[in-house]
Amino acid sequence: MIEVRNLTKSYGDKLAVSNISFKVEKGEILGFLGPNGAGKSTTMNMLTGYISSSAGEVLIDGVDILEDPKKAKANIGYLPEIPPLYVDMTVEGYLSFIYDLKKCKLPRKAHLKDVCNLCKIYDVKDRIIKNLSKGYRQRVGLAQALINNPPVLILDEPTVGLDPKQIIEIRTLIKKLGKRHTVILSSHILPEIQAVCDRIIIINKGQIAADGTAEEIASDITNEHKMTLRIEGPTHTADDKRLITDAVKGISGVKYIRADMEREKGIYDYDVETDGKTDVRREINRICAENGWNILMLQLSDLTLEDIFMKITMTDTGSEKDAEKKSRPAPKLDLKVGEDGSLNAVNEEEKDTENKEGSEESNGGEE
Ligand code: ADP
Ligand code: MG
Repeated sequence: MIEVRNLTKSYGDKLAVSNISFKVEKGEILGFLGPNGAGKSTTMNMLTGYISSSAGEVLIDGVDILEDPKKAKANIGYLPEIPPLYVDMTVEGYLSFIYDLKKCKLPRKAHLKDVCNLCKIYDVKDRIIKNLSKGYRQRVGLAQALINNPPVLILDEPTVGLDPKQIIEIRTLIKKLGKRHTVILSSHILPEIQAVCDRIIIINKGQIAADGTAEEIASDITNEHKMTLRIEGPTHTADDKRLITDAVKGISGVKYIRADMEREKGIYDYDVETDGKTDVRREINRICAENGWNILMLQLSDLTLEDIFMKITMTDTGSEKDAEKKSRPAPKLDLKVGEDGSLNAVNEEEKDTENKEGSEESNGGEE
């Protein structure tokens, strides 16, 4: 339905989007995830023909957006980052204007009513847009994108600035729309993308860093598994940490161990990552028994998408062990997940050099 080939945009000598390629199949909800300044809006503006590209192509249902913009754009409903509202118009007046602008042939009254109902703005249809709350205005923005029932919807940060209840409403609506439309949705909020999208493209510094389902990205970025151990060492002091860390590190299949919180006096939790193939629990048990240490807890937990982003931020150098892996683009971004789930670029000095394993080799990705 949408095909992007080697799309590039530069502003002077600044490369905002650099040589990105991807496809979106009919009926997919694709999440475009990246920190601020990653190039999401620039990409969406090129997809919709709002700005031209410096190089590369965008095909909407096989039609090049720059060669035949009218035909290509007829298939797209676009909600830009700042909704293009005429705030002195009423909701109905504005949507009716968009209806004319799009030369919509569907029965006017019924169609406008449908769209208003879908976006839950029917009860404010006679209000002047500037008097509406941000949540309602966003829904009006979404409604204008839906006029003429375009098969493709492109939504740039549709929930920015909304309160939690409005966010959930918009997410629910987008999911519903995904049943009838192909949707591309951008966001810098990880849980948002996770809640709504079938597939995720992570964009950072104008480049695609990962592309796939959350599970695929997880297995691309790491095939490791995580567990938390609580071990009581011999001395009940911080000295135990090094002793235990060194011993567990030596177990085949353990990729990483880090002492975490002190749970009780001198008793620590350890985050352990394994290669996912070896079950190291018995070996850990054996070593602890041998040394007279007590395992007070052993909890398995697979990496969440959030862990993966954390991991990505720590892995920009390292082994070539995964160089031969699948053809999806390898991650090469330095992101950090904030407390609210938002992604931020990481400073060089912030990068943790403790764990140099699990890094991916950039392989350029697509054929
Ligand atoms: P995002 O939407 O992911 O936050 P943008 O696509 O808006 O990112 O921006 C990507 C990069 O391109 C940013 O560094 C931004 O400053 C730059 N950029 C965007 N628009 C322009 C413009 N019109 N002129 C110059 N630089 C721009
Ligand atoms: Mg943006």
